[in-house]
This record gives sequence, C-alpha cells and structure tokens, in this order.
Amino acid sequence: MSASVIDGNALAARVRGELAVRATALAARGVQPCLAVILVGNDPASAVYVRNKMAACEKAGIRSLKLEYPGDIDPVVVMAKLAELNADASVHGILVQLPLPSRFDEGAVLEAISVAKDVDGFHAENVGRLSQGQDAFSPCTPHGVMKMFEAAQLRLAGAEVVVIGRSNIVGKPMAMLLINAGATVTICHSRTRDLAFHTRRADIVVAAVGKPRFLTADMVKPGAAVIDVGINRLPDGKLCGDVDFAAVSEVAGLITPVPGGVGPMTIAMLLENTVIAAERVAREAGQ
Ligand code: NAD
Repeated sequence: MSASVIDGNALAARVRGELAVRATALAARGVQPCLAVILVGNDPASAVYVRNKMAACEKAGIRSLKLEYPGDIDPVVVMAKLAELNADASVHGILVQLPLPSRFDEGAVLEAISVAKDVDGFHAENVGRLSQGQDAFSPCTPHGVMKMFEAAQLRLAGAEVVVIGRSNIVGKPMAMLLINAGATVTICHSRTRDLAFHTRRADIVVAAVGKPRFLTADMVKPGAAVIDVGINRLPDGKLCGDVDFAAVSEVAGLITPVPGGVGPMTIAMLLENTVIAAERVAREAGQ
C-alpha cells in the first residue's frame, strides 16, 4: 500500500488565498488586519520563523509589525510594549515568538497579551475556553492539523487517535481539539511505557516529539492516518519530521510530509486567527 499524501503547501495556499479576500474586504471597511510580532534575542530559528510569518502576512494583505529586542532586555520593557499593543486599536493580533530567554517568566508574558489579540492561543483563558469547548483562538499548529483532517474528509467522531507529545504548544491542544471533535484520544509522552502498543491500534497518529524518524512502520496500523508535526534538522542541513516517511508511507493510508505538511498550515492558521480578530473588531465597531 502507498499512502495518500496531504499536500500542506497546496492546502495552505488555498487558505491564504481565502484570507487575502477577507483581508481586502476588511480594508475596504477601513480595518486593515495587523499582527504585531515580538522577537527577543538572536536565536536563528526564531528569526527565520518570524521572517516567514511576516512575509506570509504581507502576501495576504495583513500588516505586520516586528518589535525586536536584544536577549538581555529587561522583561519590564517587553511587558510595557505588550500593554501598549493591547491598547492600540490598529493592532489586532499579538504574537511573542517563543522560546524567550530563561530570565523571562514565559507564562506571565503570554498572559499579558489581551485575550482578544492572542492569535497564538497560548493565553490561559484561551486554553481554558478551548478545554471547555467554547469559542477560542486555537493554537496554530494543532488548528492547522484539524484543517488537514477536514480537507481529507477524515471522520474524527469515534476515531481512535494517539497524540505523541504533551507540550502546551502542540500535544495538549491537539488532544483537546480532537476530543471536542468526538475522537477517543490517548496522549503518549516520554514516560509512556509501551508506545507502540498504543500507536499500533490507532486510526490516526499525530507525532509531535522532535526526534527524527521516531515513528517507524512497525508502529503503525495498516491504513492509519499519520500526521507529522516534527521539524528536525539533520546533520546534512536537511529537514525531516518525526515519522520515517518512506517506510510509513508503505503502511499508512494517509500521511503528511516534512517539509510541506503541517508547517505551512501553522502559518496559515496564524493569519486566519489575525483576520478573525480584525473581523471581530470591525463588527463591534459597526464597520
Ligand atoms: P516539546 O519538546 O515541547 O515536546 C516534545 C514531546 O515529545 C514531549 O511532550 C515529550 O514527552 C515527548 N517525547 C519525547 N521523547 C519521547 C519518547 N521517547 N516517546 C514518547 N514521547 C516522547 O516539543 P513541541 O514544541 O511539542 O514540538 C514537537 C516537534 O514539533 C518539534 O520537532 C518541533 O520543532 C515541531 N513543531 C512543529 C511545528 C510546525 O509548525 N510544524 C510547530 C511547533 C512545533
């Protein structure tokens, strides 16, 4: 068997096209969607992520502001900037690129972002709302995975899903979104005793581990859908996911590649959340 591949680039391009139309409609009503991005320190990977997010904004007609600070900046300065951005009516989304230097209290910084502008969905109130099945900004990576399920017309209600990874950014919100969609979800992590026991009986596996080619073919049920969230840099500089793509493709029914899978969807969902935030502002202002 050879799995069907979900093309994240193509799906993300379609979503971005739809968002550009919505952004243009908003601008015509006098509200140009705007995302503010805070980058602290000089982590090269973070700089690339921020650059990619801002380029995607520009292409979709979303204004973006980059606020850059040296790694030794006093956290008070960043908190003051967040308060300013919260109060600025022309800014609809605020994102603080993680990780922050260890001197920062990451939780406190994320909670200093206005819930209405928290387009990354990491504020405790948005996390709580998501866990209660209420309307909330969903974290972009798991939200993007849900869009992939929708595009592939995968039935989630009643499906056995294993999520590998329990981070606040991917694993936990992924599990929450899947539970809300009616799936039976098992979260596995570094302390799980027999991972393959769980993955082998799953209709869907989402791998968010951060270890190259960690999920091997013998761990996958024939015909299962396998979503690879991992982004790992190999010694030769190439990117690879958490899934042994070549071998797992022979067993799975559906699979996502790396690169060109979940990554582009993550950025598309950031744009979507920013446009939604701007649409809310326009609606509330009667524009
Ligand atoms: P993390 O390091 O916070 O979490 C990794 C998780 O893997 C942990 O919960 C840990 O318990 C689990 N784990 C580690 N070893 C394990 C093992 N042997 N068996 C089972 N579970 C194990 O990472 P994260 O932020 O959740 O990111 C995970 C991966 O996804 C990384 O490669 C990251 O670069 C990538 N990522 C991709 C996107 C994207 O847009 N595609 C977005 C965010 C993260």
